[in-house]
Amino acid sequence: IVEVSGLHKAFGPLEVLKGIDLQVERGQVVCIIGPSGSGKSTLLRCVNLLEEPQKGKIVVNGNEITDEDVDIDGARRKIGMVFQGFNLFAHLTVLDNLTVAQRKVLKRGKEEAQRIARENLEKVGLSEKETSLPGQLSGGQQQRVAIARALSMNPDVMLFDEPTSALDPELVGDVLAVMRQLAEEGMTMLVVTHEMQFAREVADSVLFMDGGVVVEQGPPSQVIGDPQHDRTKSFLNRVL
Ligand code: ATP
Ligand code: MG
Repeated sequence: IVEVSGLHKAFGPLEVLKGIDLQVERGQVVCIIGPSGSGKSTLLRCVNLLEEPQKGKIVVNGNEITDEDVDIDGARRKIGMVFQGFNLFAHLTVLDNLTVAQRKVLKRGKEEAQRIARENLEKVGLSEKETSLPGQLSGGQQQRVAIARALSMNPDVMLFDEPTSALDPELVGDVLAVMRQLAEEGMTMLVVTHEMQFAREVADSVLFMDGGVVVEQGPPSQVIGDPQHDRTKSFLNRVL
C-alpha cells in the first residue's frame, strides 16, 4: 500500500536520503530504526508530503503522491501521522480536537463527527476525557488522543514518528498497547521507534537506516535478533 523507490532528499548541500526503497503491504507493520540524524523523520515527512523529495517515487494506495499534479490535501487526508510531540489544539476539548478536521476536511456533520470521535476515544481508552483540555491530560493520554484524532480521519495508513520518546517511562506502555491493538486490527503502520521490544513483537518487517540509506531490512528476528551488518550490530549494542 506504500511504495517508496529511489527516494532522494537533500537540504541544500546536506544529502539526507540517498536512495531509499521501502514497501509496506496492507495490514503490515514496518518499523524503522536507526541512529539520530539517519533520516528517519525526513523519510516519514516525505511520505506525508511535508517534505518534497528531489528524486524518487512514492505511491500510497495506488496514488502517486510524488506526481507534481497530485492533489496534496486529498492524498494527505488518507495518511494519519502521529509525532513525538502531540500537536493537539490546546484551547479545544479532547472531543473538539477529534472533530475539527473531520468537519473541515471531510465535511462530516457534527453528529457523525462526534460519533466517530467517541468510537476512537473508546478505542484508546479515553472515553471519560472528552470534555478535558489537552493540558489536563498526561503526556501518554495526550498521545493517545493524537492517535484517536488521526484514526478519526479513516486513514489508509498510519505513520508514527517516535510516538513514545517524549513520554515518561511509565506512560510509554499505554501508548504502545494502543499501537499494538491497532496492528492487531489490521491497520497498516509505518513506525519510527526506539522501542526494540515493540519492533520485535509487532513488526512484520524492520528496516535499519544509517546515513540516509537502508542498511538492512527483514523480519525482526533477523534484523534485531541476528543482524548481518556491523553498523546494525553496533547500533543495537548501543540501544539494547
Ligand atoms: P532522530 O532520531 O534524532 O529523530 P532522524 O533519523 O529522524 O533523527 P532526521 O530528522 O530525518 O533524522 O534528520 C536527518 C538530517 O537532516 C539531520 O542531519 C538533520 O539535521 C537534517 N535536517 C532535517 N530537517 C532539516 C531541515 N528542514 N533543514 C535542514 N536540515 C534538516
Ligand atoms: Mg526523527
